Amino acid sequence: MTIDVLVEVNVGSQNQIFTYAVNHQLRDKIKKGIRVTVPFGSRKLEGFVININDNNIDVDYELKEIINVVDENPVLNTELLELGQYMSELYLSPLIHCYQTMLPVALKAKKKTKINIKIEKYISLNKDKEEINEYISNNKSMLQNNILLQIIQLERVRKKDVDNQNVLRTLLNKGLLKEEEEEVYRLQSNDISNKDYHKLTDDQAKVVNSFFSGSKGVYLLHGVTGSGKTEVYMNIIDRVLHEGKNAIVLVPEIALTAQLVTRFQNHFGNEVAILHSRLSDGEKYDEWRKIEREEVSIVIGARSAVFAPLSNIGVIIIDEEHETTYKQENSPRYHALDIAIYRAKKHDAKVMLGSATPSLESYARAKKGYYGLLELKNRINGKDLPEVFVVDMQSSIQKGYRLLSLELINKIKERLERKEQVMILLNRRGYSNFLTCPNCGYTYKCPHCDITMTYHKTSDTLRCHYCGYADKRRIECPECHAKGLKDFGIGTERIEEEIKSLFTGVRIIRMDLDTTTKKGAHNKIIKDFENHKYDILLGTQMIAKGLDFDRVTLVGVINADMSLNIPDFRSSERTFQLLSQVAGRSGRKDTEGEVLLQTFDNDHYVIEKVKNHDYIGFYNKEMQVRRKLFYPPYCFIAMIRILSKDYEYGFDISKKIGAYLRKQLPNNIVLGPTMANVFKVNNIYRFVCLIKYRDKEEIYQSLNEINKHYDNNHKLKLEVDINPMRM
Ligand code: ADP
Ligand code: ZN
Repeated sequence: MTIDVLVEVNVGSQNQIFTYAVNHQLRDKIKKGIRVTVPFGSRKLEGFVININDNNIDVDYELKEIINVVDENPVLNTELLELGQYMSELYLSPLIHCYQTMLPVALKAKKKTKINIKIEKYISLNKDKEEINEYISNNKSMLQNNILLQIIQLERVRKKDVDNQNVLRTLLNKGLLKEEEEEVYRLQSNDISNKDYHKLTDDQAKVVNSFFSGSKGVYLLHGVTGSGKTEVYMNIIDRVLHEGKNAIVLVPEIALTAQLVTRFQNHFGNEVAILHSRLSDGEKYDEWRKIEREEVSIVIGARSAVFAPLSNIGVIIIDEEHETTYKQENSPRYHALDIAIYRAKKHDAKVMLGSATPSLESYARAKKGYYGLLELKNRINGKDLPEVFVVDMQSSIQKGYRLLSLELINKIKERLERKEQVMILLNRRGYSNFLTCPNCGYTYKCPHCDITMTYHKTSDTLRCHYCGYADKRRIECPECHAKGLKDFGIGTERIEEEIKSLFTGVRIIRMDLDTTTKKGAHNKIIKDFENHKYDILLGTQMIAKGLDFDRVTLVGVINADMSLNIPDFRSSERTFQLLSQVAGRSGRKDTEGEVLLQTFDNDHYVIEKVKNHDYIGFYNKEMQVRRKLFYPPYCFIAMIRILSKDYEYGFDISKKIGAYLRKQLPNNIVLGPTMANVFKVNNIYRFVCLIKYRDKEEIYQSLNEINKHYDNNHKLKLEVDINPMRM
């Protein structure tokens, strides 16, 4: 017997698969999809068994034998093995990256410290009840008798819950009690589930029925914020579970997961497993095991949960489908939607995409009939969407209100008096907070990345958001030696100070990267705000989506138009989504809400459409723009990034690649090379070529050729990104 083993070594675009022999003792243990340890040069490596050849193949050199078998059962089942192949072709990514990305750290083929399995010890009777009772009646030790009586009554208790461990040991030694070990999971879920939920409104019921009765594989649920989409998801899942099938729910990120997960856990109890990046490696492993052992039927998680090894999937739901976090930035550069559609087909399941602001691509597909289109046009509470006011900051600044306009201040005051809550979003996309010399205009830049460094007040440091480089803040300008480098932009901390000085005694909490680094910090902020321990929640994009607070009746946005300046063809779409989402946080329950946008660009169509809650209007307008400039959804984009430490060389090769593509692909549009909008990151120059294409078959061959050609070139690195989400 020989086996083909895929290892992660010298990964270029070609897959590193090597054939090994298997000795007699190990033969029975070999299965496709398990990990084995193999000799590789002088090293030992872990790899996945991807093929078993029963006949010895003829080679003119002696095959090495594998060293050991790591797993009893496959970590990659047949479905995942096939899925990896599909991903590898679709994204032009090495197969090993595809498999590694599917698995939790503990199950990747990598040298690592193994995850401990958590064990809990339990105590129970070792003799029948009569015998124990007899022992008790002849026994004078009250301490012993108490423990025995407790265990007779409870049958089984955790060892650590027994009060007197010395006495317990005596009873164990006497053989009256026994100790058993059981594997426990780090995350305990709710045992109690509460199956009753709101009776669906007619609109919701219609959505659910169309979803099940329709013939499409993918449905887009376009529902305004607060229209009851989450309730629809739960209802669909109920029905799927009822048919004996399982469900995957994808959510964009952890900040959003908190409330949704709680709702799902309350409803479905311990049928839910949770997978997301904030779990420890041990927790992730445990959740994965629960899924694999079919102890749960619903998996909720961020992007990578789309790989959850559930069998018999009935539905895959992608909430806030427009979010860019569904696309992985590193190899394999996959989009969870592609994977969901592929898996759903295999399982004969359906996919549901939900959003109040669908991506242009998805909405266009729904309009063309590739996806089914389902709609929830009204809020559950029967109220209108919140009224949106736009404040022109140019005139506000003239009146002396630089950060918060007088209009916003007055509205906040009203809310505080009425004991309602306020959310304030500082739109910082495309914008940073930096130190500038008032004398010569010097600004701190990262010495490695050439990117303006961001000033962090809490630690009084300057940081590069690209590479993490940090430096103490200086008082003196290094250029002209004038004193008084000033922070130029606005950060959440500045706004917090301003609000505190305007409203004495106001209870305000901040949610941004700084305040949420600790595990559980997100949840705590959300819970505290929910319980009205604070009046104002101030934050970055993190607070824009998914959160559902009953008492919020005002949402204010500072720098609403800032993100329109990002050099990316999707910047209007992103801004529209961000502003609509955050506006949707206002007035979700009994009281009508209001939204106030502070902008410098009042006339921009994005601001106008947000003001009117006009997704369709925005869609139509934006589609015209995309059509004129030939951008998705009118085409697809493939991005080729060329990374090199050597500027001349990198640029030279990039030009060659551009020319080659133009020659090979006369029917497609090839752009570049350009310098990426980041000049250099970590002392590496990045050049970019773009292909706008319609038919992937035409371009893949050329991309593969290029990949192969530069595989062994150590002076540069190539990255191919199919449908990149960031330009
Ligand atoms: P979305 O996900 O579209 O923003 P949610 O599902 O969070 O909307 O619903 C908004 C609010 O309405 C939630 O507080 C939810 O509990 C409530 N809700 C949803 N559906 C119903 C219903 N059928 N009857 C009563 N309340 C509902
Ligand atoms: Zn840097």
